[in-house]
Amino acid sequence: MQANYKKLLKFTNKIADIKNAIAVLNWDQETYMPPKGQGFRAQQIATLSGIAHEAETSTAYENCINELLEEPSLNPVESKNIQLLKRDMVKAKKLPSDFVIGLSKATSKAFHAWITARKANDFELFKEALSEMVKIQQEKAEIYGYKDHIYNALMDDYEPKATVQEIDTLFSEVKTKLSPLLAQIAKSPQVEDAFMYKQFAKDKQWDFGMTILEQLGYDLEAGRQDLAEHPFSTTFSPFDVRVTTRIKENNLYDMLWSCIHECGHALYEQGLSAAEYGLPCGEAVSLGIHESQSRFYENNIGRSEAFWESNYPGLQATFPNQLGDVSSEDFYRAANIVKPSLIRTDADELSYHFHIMIRYEIEKQLIDGSLAVSDVKEAWNASYSKYLNINVPSDNQGVLQDVHWSHGGFGYFPTYSLGSFYAAQFEAKMVKEIPDMFQEIRTGEFSNILTWLRTNIHQHGRFYTSQELCKNATGETLKFDYFMDYAVKKYSAIYAL
Ligand SMILES: [Zn+2]
Repeated sequence: MQANYKKLLKFTNKIADIKNAIAVLNWDQETYMPPKGQGFRAQQIATLSGIAHEAETSTAYENCINELLEEPSLNPVESKNIQLLKRDMVKAKKLPSDFVIGLSKATSKAFHAWITARKANDFELFKEALSEMVKIQQEKAEIYGYKDHIYNALMDDYEPKATVQEIDTLFSEVKTKLSPLLAQIAKSPQVEDAFMYKQFAKDKQWDFGMTILEQLGYDLEAGRQDLAEHPFSTTFSPFDVRVTTRIKENNLYDMLWSCIHECGHALYEQGLSAAEYGLPCGEAVSLGIHESQSRFYENNIGRSEAFWESNYPGLQATFPNQLGDVSSEDFYRAANIVKPSLIRTDADELSYHFHIMIRYEIEKQLIDGSLAVSDVKEAWNASYSKYLNINVPSDNQGVLQDVHWSHGGFGYFPTYSLGSFYAAQFEAKMVKEIPDMFQEIRTGEFSNILTWLRTNIHQHGRFYTSQELCKNATGETLKFDYFMDYAVKKYSAIYAL
């Protein structure tokens, strides 16, 4: 290995070690930390973040990257790491420290205003802080610079290189193609799912979730599951990837599919290259691809007939009183119930994309200045009525439901939909390459599926962009029609369309 590259690894390992230590502290904070630990914990995280920032912005580190940019003897992966480190550094350095401090203050103010507004169920109390947040996001986009549309600059933080043009095309298809399917479903006899809300003992749910994690290939020697208020997964290295879940005794949906969803995220992280620890080629490429992995497992696998054919007998045996008289077919239908509702995080697989589209359109217009903050609530409510035929009865069930804007997460929402669309396209290709895929799922066998994802997605880290990865894996860049084909096939059968 080239001597300068070895020197670089000292920098990148140190930065990664500090950031992963911060991740451990954050994980602990969300799972086990006693309440009184909060004050010093915040201080500990801030201290380590400061050290990481110093290391990341040191002149010695920058010089090392710059020298390696000119180095001809690097292999393609090493060379890609250097290009991406340079890209990240240039981007990070664009934001002046005054601006970063201002952004952090605006975020903290907006988050508190959002909490207050949520308590009062009143969007009015969030407006002023949201206006400031929009203004500072516009400034950020201007500092980053962009081509074509200002919102592109903000999406780049979450989905590098994504453009408004691409996302607009996808959502115009959501409107023209998915809307008629939802309308057809609404007119059909509805699915019954009352049994999902019986009492299901927590410990039994937990045990069942653990067997699913193991079955799907989550390496419990390189991870563990714990309980958290809001389920998430987090990574300290490819050999220590944690998942968390939440269990509600009166709602079987919650644990089952959040457990499978987080497992999908964790499988991606466990599949990243350990040799590339701390380097771009050892990191997830984008939130959209990350979400494709969680949604592939949650929906394409975890809500498939084949999956429940193999797993329902076990679930029924775990809860004989609750599910003894529910057939496997009825359970599968309930798992896929379509019922447009107010809250994004409770949405079904189809109406979900309208929740995302509405947020995307609102934030895009806020950022390009074509919508005023004072008109956001009306725009929100009008869109829910138009696309989902739902009246929004209160701000908490409407415009105040998500934390993202108060965190400054503008540009984030589209990645959720991208995840489902990528997942459908991956599945279509996978079925061609693993013809017995669903037969294997029926017998509880998932190793060929995981190998396909490892080979085509996980191992590459950021070596390819999302769209390149998609093209290499499936032969095409992202197309909405794969999701539509998947949806029509699945839901026509469930709703007898
Ligand atoms: Zn997710």
